[in-house]
Amino acid sequence: MSYFAKSSSKALPIIPLTKDNLSSWCKKQKKDIQHWISDTAFEALPGKTCLISGSDGKLAKVLVGVSNSTNMWDCGNLSQDLPKGIYKFQHSNSKDAEKWALGWVLGSYQFDRYQKSKSTKKARIFLPKSSSFERIVEAIFLTRDLINTPAEDMGPVHLANAAQMLAKKHKASINITVGKNLLKKNYPAIHAVGRAVKTANQTPRLIDFKWGGKNHPKLTLVGKGVCFDTGGLNIKTTGGMKLMKKDMGGAANVLGLAHMIMSANLPVQLRVLIPAVENNIAGDALRPLDIITSRSGKTIEIGNTDAEGRVILADALTEACSDSPALIIDFATLTGAARVALGTELPALFTNSDQISKIITESGITEQDPLWRLPLWDGYQEKIQGTSADLTNAPEGGYGGAITAALFLQEFVEPKTNWAHIDLMAWNLTTKPGRPRGGEAMGIRSIFTALQNNSII
Ligand SMILES: [Zn+2]
Repeated sequence: MSYFAKSSSKALPIIPLTKDNLSSWCKKQKKDIQHWISDTAFEALPGKTCLISGSDGKLAKVLVGVSNSTNMWDCGNLSQDLPKGIYKFQHSNSKDAEKWALGWVLGSYQFDRYQKSKSTKKARIFLPKSSSFERIVEAIFLTRDLINTPAEDMGPVHLANAAQMLAKKHKASINITVGKNLLKKNYPAIHAVGRAVKTANQTPRLIDFKWGGKNHPKLTLVGKGVCFDTGGLNIKTTGGMKLMKKDMGGAANVLGLAHMIMSANLPVQLRVLIPAVENNIAGDALRPLDIITSRSGKTIEIGNTDAEGRVILADALTEACSDSPALIIDFATLTGAARVALGTELPALFTNSDQISKIITESGITEQDPLWRLPLWDGYQEKIQGTSADLTNAPEGGYGGAITAALFLQEFVEPKTNWAHIDLMAWNLTTKPGRPRGGEAMGIRSIFTALQNNSII
């Protein structure tokens, strides 16, 4: 991959230093280096760099400030900050070096598919070959690319093609149910949300792929794939609609996580279910107070056509439960309420298992890929009851909207099945070290680590 350097022979050393150990490091250096560091006022603050030349005047090494406890984002800007060239970390702990390198590489990501002039190559990092490192980078770049691609080129057909490519790469079997066949096969809620479209590329569909040995425990991932969300007849505002190409961010994260799982050959029977639709406006669009009979038989009153994600997930979750998996995890850009509660950088985790919650949230801290649990608060159950149907997709008032959305999904999950629901932004509103503005993978590194440690399934 181009963001790695293949050889270390020309690599310049990068020396990570904390504010606390800078002076002891300086004492071991020659006078000219000591003067340079003090004259340039380098304090080894996290993310700050100091270029040091050799006696020939050429760049010889780089000092980078890092936090006392290893923080991968301290090196997230280095691909831009350092001069073009190849570098390697000079550090005794290879695990720490790998964390910094991950921050570096994730910060080097660019979505330049539509740019005539591609930016010139950046500073690159050398790492000893590591398939675990590469699969994480590939997964996150895949997720970001899928989200960043405009809806015109990332409609339901394109999302299905991306899933098909991934399935082929890992020799998974795939089945895609398209358009009217959704009705024949009894996925009425997916069809109802996605039917108001004109072109074949936009036709709603259910993507379903399976991978892994039959004697392993079953893990099913479900991803919300709303390729564009206009809001439907309850149309969004200009500002509210602008980013809605990202409303398939749940599906993109699920595909990224699936790539990690399959390329690491984890001992699971993986199934991926993605309802892929556009929530659009046409003569046959869903109307407020229409009632859909879902796959499960439960009826859903459409209080608001913009609360469509939970409606398509209803049918997908019913199907997910049909073969009794050991664990279901769904990812969805589901509610603005989750962003109000936790902000855009902290996905909300809901689960019916305290143990899974504990493991995933702890993994989130160690992986620097955090998730925060919100409750499936039974006291709000009455809010999701419909007036003329079993359920409403839009509780009155909207308070606790992330919770009521999760409670709605829970209606379609078998109570005995372990289930985690992740309500995420899937988008960086601003650029931060290692996290460029745009589509983002959130929570999948943490969950992959938890799965890899075999602790949640
Ligand atoms: Zn919506």
